[in-house]
Amino acid sequence: MYTCKDWLALHGLNASEVEDVISAFCAGNIECSFRVSPTDNGVYPGSDSISTQESCYRNMVVPALAKAFENVSEVKHLLCNHVEFRGLNNSKEVPYTVCQGSGQPPAVFIDWHGRAEDLLCLVHETAHALQMLLSKNEIMPPVARETCAFIGELLLLDYVKAYLPQFHASLLNVWHGQNRFYLGDCVDALTDALNHPEISYHYYQNYPLARLAAVQVFFATDNKSVSALFSSGREAMAYLPINEMASVGIGVRNPLPVLPPSDVEQPAVDAYRSLGVMALLDIESGSKASYQRIESYYLKLLKNLQERTAFIALDNDNKPVGYATWVESNVDNNMVLTCQTALPSNRINLQRALEKYINKAKDVKASYTRKASKEMLVW
Ligand SMILES: [Zn+2]
Repeated sequence: MYTCKDWLALHGLNASEVEDVISAFCAGNIECSFRVSPTDNGVYPGSDSISTQESCYRNMVVPALAKAFENVSEVKHLLCNHVEFRGLNNSKEVPYTVCQGSGQPPAVFIDWHGRAEDLLCLVHETAHALQMLLSKNEIMPPVARETCAFIGELLLLDYVKAYLPQFHASLLNVWHGQNRFYLGDCVDALTDALNHPEISYHYYQNYPLARLAAVQVFFATDNKSVSALFSSGREAMAYLPINEMASVGIGVRNPLPVLPPSDVEQPAVDAYRSLGVMALLDIESGSKASYQRIESYYLKLLKNLQERTAFIALDNDNKPVGYATWVESNVDNNMVLTCQTALPSNRINLQRALEKYINKAKDVKASYTRKASKEMLVW
């Protein structure tokens, strides 16, 4: 079985480096968002004359990508003459791009509905095709190939902002919306894989590093570096700023203090300590609970503590990572979770610790599951 260990080895990464990148992102030390300019009015691309896939490709995707390379005309030529487009075989299939071997054009499989998300998807897949052409069909590690595709999306956003500003807001909206998947569910999948080496590899785990790296490469480098990355084939990981991103995550893994062992002689101290920990977790995780009235917040949690329907999960250093509360039904001995609060990238850890604690996992209606809440958009 192909696992996280194999994935790390393939990319020349180690687990703590990847954890540091995730911590840096969760702590807000790696920027991955853009402001919409006040002049944007959010016109929908499909509502204009450039509504077909062919016209969007020629007028937006090709110039946007080519502009980032030193050899603009050569890249334009490749994109206009050496990429094949086909429809998807069925509506359930996600768009994808395949290499057809040496001397053959890469094939992009995509359906077109004239929406902003179709345009982002078109540039994502075209960037995959371009990376295959420039790497002379040499296979790139998945994190690097997705970085190239995400750079393609950023190049389109940049091009549209400069030359077709009326479309910028709607595209940027879609891009931000997709961040919730790539930097939300996919971060959970990656954290889960790092913490549980027995879990088999899932393609989702490539996206968080790639999404973050793309933004860094896009802002920090010049045309030469973009060309070098797209042409680098199996050596591509050397062109990604993984070390730089990891370095701003060291030491920010868990900002909360170590929880001392519980004091059986003084249960009241334990209760107040637990209340303090829950409040800190709510604040650190950005939970809406911190906007509640102090009185109702306090009474609700105190009731949970008195009824023993609260649980605090600790990490290996005994630092709190999350808490949960629930209500118990006398009728069927069922338990329903009323709250799950966890530090960023610790939702799965909380759920697993909780399941272990109550030892009744089948009866618990957990809010978080490992399954991504949204279908994959592009590959
Ligand atoms: Zn992709």
